Amino acid sequence: MGSFPEALADRYRRFKHRLYVPNADHYEELATYGQSPDTMVISCSDSRCDPEMIFSAMPGELFVLRNVANLVPPYETGGIHHGVSAAIEFAVLNLRIKHMVILGHSGCGGVKAALNQSAAVQTEAKFISQWMSMLDEARLAVLRDHKDESSAAQHTALEFECVKTSIKNLRTFPFVQADEDRGHLSLHGAHFDIKTGTLSVLNHSRGTFYPL
Ligand SMILES: [Zn+2]
Repeated sequence: MGSFPEALADRYRRFKHRLYVPNADHYEELATYGQSPDTMVISCSDSRCDPEMIFSAMPGELFVLRNVANLVPPYETGGIHHGVSAAIEFAVLNLRIKHMVILGHSGCGGVKAALNQSAAVQTEAKFISQWMSMLDEARLAVLRDHKDESSAAQHTALEFECVKTSIKNLRTFPFVQADEDRGHLSLHGAHFDIKTGTLSVLNHSRGTFYPL
Protein backbone atom coordinates (compact mmCIF):
# COMPACT_ATOMS: atom_id res chain seq x y z
CA MET A 1 0.00 0.00 0.00
CA GLY A 2 1.42 3.40 -0.98
CA SER A 3 1.91 6.23 1.43
CA PHE A 4 -0.50 9.13 1.49
CA PRO A 5 0.34 11.42 -1.45
CA GLU A 6 2.62 14.25 -0.35
CA ALA A 7 0.95 16.61 -2.80
CA LEU A 8 -2.40 16.07 -1.05
CA ALA A 9 -0.80 16.47 2.37
CA ASP A 10 0.64 19.81 1.23
CA ARG A 11 -2.73 20.93 -0.13
CA TYR A 12 -4.38 19.96 3.14
CA ARG A 13 -1.87 21.99 5.16
CA ARG A 14 -2.51 24.95 2.86
CA PHE A 15 -6.27 24.59 3.43
CA LYS A 16 -5.79 24.38 7.19
CA HIS A 17 -3.64 27.51 7.26
CA ARG A 18 -5.42 29.66 4.70
CA LEU A 19 -9.06 28.63 5.01
CA TYR A 20 -9.73 26.67 8.18
CA VAL A 21 -7.87 28.80 10.71
CA PRO A 22 -9.34 32.14 9.54
CA ASN A 23 -12.83 30.55 9.64
CA ALA A 24 -12.34 28.50 12.79
CA ASP A 25 -15.28 30.19 14.57
CA HIS A 26 -17.58 29.32 11.69
CA TYR A 27 -16.41 25.70 11.70
CA GLU A 28 -16.92 25.50 15.46
CA GLU A 29 -20.45 26.84 15.10
CA LEU A 30 -21.18 24.27 12.35
CA ALA A 31 -19.76 21.49 14.52
CA THR A 32 -21.82 22.58 17.52
CA TYR A 33 -25.16 23.36 15.88
CA GLY A 34 -25.01 21.15 12.76
CA GLN A 35 -25.60 21.99 9.16
CA SER A 36 -28.62 23.81 7.75
CA PRO A 37 -27.91 24.39 4.07
CA ASP A 38 -30.87 25.68 2.06
CA THR A 39 -29.58 24.41 -1.29
CA MET A 40 -28.71 20.98 -2.66
CA VAL A 41 -26.57 20.74 -5.79
CA ILE A 42 -26.38 17.57 -7.86
CA SER A 43 -23.42 17.86 -10.19
CA CYS A 44 -21.03 15.75 -12.22
CA SER A 45 -17.95 14.18 -10.62
CA ASP A 46 -15.85 15.88 -13.30
CA SER A 47 -12.85 17.57 -11.66
CA ARG A 48 -13.40 20.78 -13.64
CA CYS A 49 -16.91 21.47 -12.42
CA ASP A 50 -16.83 22.02 -8.66
CA PRO A 51 -20.17 23.44 -7.45
CA GLU A 52 -18.69 24.87 -4.24
CA MET A 53 -16.16 26.81 -6.28
CA ILE A 54 -18.66 27.94 -8.93
CA PHE A 55 -21.13 29.20 -6.29
CA SER A 56 -18.43 30.64 -3.99
CA ALA A 57 -19.81 28.51 -1.17
CA MET A 58 -18.69 28.54 2.43
CA PRO A 59 -18.80 25.32 4.50
CA GLY A 60 -22.36 24.50 5.52
CA GLU A 61 -23.97 26.32 2.60
CA LEU A 62 -24.38 23.61 -0.07
CA PHE A 63 -25.45 20.00 0.30
CA VAL A 64 -23.66 18.41 -2.64
CA LEU A 65 -24.08 15.12 -4.45
CA ARG A 66 -21.77 14.31 -7.34
CA ASN A 67 -21.97 11.40 -9.75
CA VAL A 68 -21.30 10.60 -13.40
CA ALA A 69 -23.21 13.14 -15.52
CA ASN A 70 -25.26 14.67 -12.65
CA LEU A 71 -28.00 12.10 -13.10
CA VAL A 72 -31.00 11.46 -10.87
CA PRO A 73 -32.62 8.06 -11.44
CA PRO A 74 -36.41 7.82 -11.41
CA TYR A 75 -38.01 7.03 -8.04
CA GLU A 76 -38.10 3.30 -7.40
CA THR A 77 -37.85 1.23 -4.25
CA GLY A 78 -36.50 -2.06 -5.65
CA GLY A 79 -32.90 -2.94 -4.81
CA ILE A 80 -31.16 -1.78 -1.66
CA HIS A 81 -28.28 0.53 -2.50
CA HIS A 82 -29.82 3.81 -3.54
CA GLY A 83 -27.10 6.38 -2.90
CA VAL A 84 -28.65 9.16 -4.96
CA SER A 85 -32.15 8.60 -3.58
CA ALA A 86 -30.85 8.48 0.00
CA ALA A 87 -29.10 11.84 -0.41
CA ILE A 88 -32.20 13.43 -1.96
CA GLU A 89 -34.42 12.01 0.78
CA PHE A 90 -32.14 13.33 3.53
CA ALA A 91 -31.89 16.76 1.90
CA VAL A 92 -35.65 17.15 1.42
CA LEU A 93 -37.07 15.43 4.50
CA ASN A 94 -34.38 16.19 7.12
CA LEU A 95 -32.59 19.33 5.98
CA ARG A 96 -35.78 20.80 4.42
CA ILE A 97 -33.77 22.39 1.65
CA LYS A 98 -35.48 25.12 -0.37
CA HIS A 99 -33.58 24.85 -3.66
CA MET A 100 -32.28 21.92 -5.64
CA VAL A 101 -29.91 22.63 -8.54
CA ILE A 102 -28.96 20.10 -11.20
CA LEU A 103 -25.61 21.30 -12.53
CA GLY A 104 -24.39 19.95 -15.88
CA HIS A 105 -21.26 21.05 -17.72
CA SER A 106 -19.54 21.25 -21.09
CA GLY A 107 -17.35 18.40 -22.32
CA CYS A 108 -19.10 15.87 -20.08
CA GLY A 109 -17.50 12.45 -20.64
CA GLY A 110 -20.52 10.59 -19.29
CA VAL A 111 -22.86 12.37 -21.69
CA LYS A 112 -20.43 11.72 -24.55
CA ALA A 113 -20.37 8.01 -23.68
CA ALA A 114 -24.17 8.03 -23.71
CA LEU A 115 -24.28 9.77 -27.08
CA ASN A 116 -21.78 7.39 -28.69
CA GLN A 117 -22.84 4.44 -26.55
CA SER A 118 -19.08 3.95 -26.22
CA ALA A 119 -19.06 2.56 -22.67
CA ALA A 120 -20.93 -0.52 -23.89
CA VAL A 121 -18.01 -1.52 -26.12
CA GLN A 122 -15.47 -1.40 -23.27
CA THR A 123 -15.37 -4.97 -22.02
CA GLU A 124 -14.49 -3.87 -18.48
CA ALA A 125 -17.15 -1.13 -18.27
CA LYS A 126 -19.78 -2.85 -16.18
CA PHE A 127 -21.49 0.16 -14.66
CA ILE A 128 -21.28 3.20 -16.93
CA SER A 129 -23.42 1.97 -19.81
CA GLN A 130 -26.23 0.90 -17.47
CA TRP A 131 -26.00 4.17 -15.54
CA MET A 132 -26.04 6.22 -18.73
CA SER A 133 -29.02 4.27 -20.10
CA MET A 134 -31.08 6.79 -18.11
CA LEU A 135 -30.38 9.09 -21.06
CA ASP A 136 -31.65 6.68 -23.76
CA GLU A 137 -34.83 8.64 -24.37
CA ALA A 138 -33.06 12.02 -24.37
CA ARG A 139 -30.33 10.64 -26.67
CA LEU A 140 -32.87 9.51 -29.27
CA ALA A 141 -34.63 12.90 -29.06
CA VAL A 142 -31.32 14.76 -29.58
CA LEU A 143 -30.33 12.53 -32.51
CA ARG A 144 -33.75 13.21 -34.05
CA ASP A 145 -33.95 16.95 -33.37
CA HIS A 146 -30.28 17.73 -34.14
CA LYS A 147 -29.63 15.14 -36.85
CA ASP A 148 -27.98 17.57 -39.30
CA GLU A 149 -25.69 19.12 -36.66
CA SER A 150 -22.11 18.27 -35.71
CA SER A 151 -21.40 15.66 -33.06
CA ALA A 152 -20.11 18.50 -30.83
CA ALA A 153 -23.47 20.29 -31.13
CA GLN A 154 -25.32 17.05 -30.39
CA HIS A 155 -23.09 16.49 -27.36
CA THR A 156 -23.93 19.95 -25.98
CA ALA A 157 -27.63 19.45 -26.72
CA LEU A 158 -27.59 16.16 -24.76
CA GLU A 159 -25.84 17.86 -21.81
CA PHE A 160 -28.78 20.27 -21.58
CA GLU A 161 -31.29 17.43 -22.01
CA CYS A 162 -29.46 15.48 -19.31
CA VAL A 163 -30.14 18.28 -16.80
CA LYS A 164 -33.81 18.31 -17.81
CA THR A 165 -34.01 14.50 -17.50
CA SER A 166 -32.71 14.68 -13.92
CA ILE A 167 -35.30 17.35 -13.06
CA LYS A 168 -38.05 15.22 -14.59
CA ASN A 169 -36.87 12.22 -12.56
CA LEU A 170 -36.65 14.31 -9.37
CA ARG A 171 -40.37 15.00 -9.73
CA THR A 172 -41.08 11.25 -9.57
CA PHE A 173 -40.02 11.30 -5.88
CA PRO A 174 -43.29 11.77 -3.94
CA PHE A 175 -41.72 13.98 -1.25
CA VAL A 176 -40.02 16.19 -3.88
CA GLN A 177 -43.30 16.60 -5.74
CA ALA A 178 -45.17 17.33 -2.50
CA ASP A 179 -42.70 20.02 -1.37
CA GLU A 180 -42.63 21.58 -4.83
CA ASP A 181 -46.45 21.66 -4.96
CA ARG A 182 -46.54 23.37 -1.54
CA GLY A 183 -44.03 25.96 -2.74
CA HIS A 184 -41.42 24.80 -0.20
CA LEU A 185 -38.94 23.53 -2.80
CA SER A 186 -37.76 24.94 -6.14
CA LEU A 187 -36.01 22.82 -8.76
CA HIS A 188 -33.41 24.48 -10.96
CA GLY A 189 -31.29 23.45 -13.93
CA ALA A 190 -27.88 24.89 -14.82
CA HIS A 191 -24.99 24.20 -17.19
CA PHE A 192 -21.40 25.37 -16.69
CA ASP A 193 -19.21 26.03 -19.74
CA ILE A 194 -15.67 25.19 -18.67
CA LYS A 195 -14.00 27.07 -21.52
CA THR A 196 -15.84 30.40 -21.05
CA GLY A 197 -16.91 30.18 -17.40
CA THR A 198 -20.51 30.89 -18.45
CA LEU A 199 -23.27 29.52 -16.26
CA SER A 200 -26.57 29.06 -18.13
CA VAL A 201 -29.77 28.40 -16.23
CA LEU A 202 -32.97 26.68 -17.27
CA ASN A 203 -36.12 28.61 -18.08
CA HIS A 204 -38.68 25.96 -17.13
CA SER A 205 -41.56 27.33 -19.20
CA ARG A 206 -39.50 27.53 -22.40
CA GLY A 207 -37.35 24.48 -21.74
CA THR A 208 -34.27 26.47 -22.81
CA PHE A 209 -31.16 27.74 -21.01
CA TYR A 210 -30.01 31.36 -20.82
CA PRO A 211 -26.63 32.70 -19.63
CA LEU A 212 -26.37 34.60 -16.33
ZN1 LIG B 1 -19.54 15.28 -16.57
